Amino acid sequence: MVELEDLYQQLILDHNRQPRNRRRLEAADRTARGYNPLCGDRVTVFLRLRDDVVDDISFEGSGCAISTASASMMTESLKGKTLDEARALFRRFHDLLTGEGTEARNGSALGKLEVFSNVCRYPARVKCATLAWHTVCAALDGRPEEVTTE
Ligand code: ZN
Repeated sequence: MVELEDLYQQLILDHNRQPRNRRRLEAADRTARGYNPLCGDRVTVFLRLRDDVVDDISFEGSGCAISTASASMMTESLKGKTLDEARALFRRFHDLLTGEGTEARNGSALGKLEVFSNVCRYPARVKCATLAWHTVCAALDGRPEEVTTE
């Protein structure tokens, strides 16, 4: 486990112990699988859309604490969002973790997702934190083949 600030670490550990929305979504109309060979994290994301809104979202998979917590918090963040909002959130999250752009640093609407901001100091862990997000983007784009972080 990387040395995150205590509060951030607590939130990540909590989501790792009790992942939200970790289940198969039977009525999913979009799914995608992701794999991070660097760490061995695997995730499958299920999406149900109503018009342009994420009506329901869930995930299954196994991986390290960061990848599981990230997938769990991602599902909470994306539920009820429009597809455009979901893509914008992914870009902000990605920028936050890769240190690109400035949008992420000046109080963007990332909310709880900012617990992952310290992960950018551990480049190998960035892929753990972004795996579920890359996977959900593949699902949104209708790319069902496996996404890898390599
Ligand atoms: Zn990992």
